[in-house]
Amino acid sequence: MGIDTIVSPTLPPAGPAATPRMPGESAARQCRAVFLDRDGVINQVFVRDGKPYAPTALEEFSIYADVPAAIERLKQAGYLTIVVTNQPDVARGKVPRETIDALHARMHELLPIDDCLVCPHDDGECGCRKPLPGMLLEASEKHGIDLRRSVMVGDRWRDVDAGRNAGCQTVFIDRGYREQLPEHPPHHVCSSLGAAVAWILSEHRA
Ligand SMILES: [Mg+2]
Ligand SMILES: [Zn+2]
Repeated sequence: MGIDTIVSPTLPPAGPAATPRMPGESAARQCRAVFLDRDGVINQVFVRDGKPYAPTALEEFSIYADVPAAIERLKQAGYLTIVVTNQPDVARGKVPRETIDALHARMHELLPIDDCLVCPHDDGECGCRKPLPGMLLEASEKHGIDLRRSVMVGDRWRDVDAGRNAGCQTVFIDRGYREQLPEHPPHHVCSSLGAAVAWILSEHRA
């Protein structure tokens, strides 16, 4: 009755690794991705008593200076760039979901990232809160990502362990917080996303 069904186009797989499939060929996961934690990797955090805290308002959202160029380098090299972020303050009632969405709208304006997945839950509520690998598995399904040829970059043990649990390579950005270390040793340790990307592009040749 005059109502059009709008089918949103799915993004074509990005990067040189994406080759067309023959009819009948199984849905091979061919893309490589770099999964990026948000707080302490993309944007600055507030450190109190050695522990990092996320921004709770748009005015507090400040991206590290080396991040735009680092993400651009990954794109040029054919990686999908996908943010995977725990935001338990939503479940804890400290930050409204609308604020998280506004921060992410700003992030998409400023950075050419391909996707952003959010876990708004607290411990024990879901399969997506890092160190569980749910967000990486979901992104793999959605974008056709080969997790074994992908990398997870984060500044906390939960990120490194989520990457390991999903079968990815892992990079730990050590910002010197006073908290537990990853259960699994990361494949690389450095101090910024720029340095992480330099390592990925030089060492992680899949
Ligand atoms: Mg973080
Ligand atoms: Zn979750």
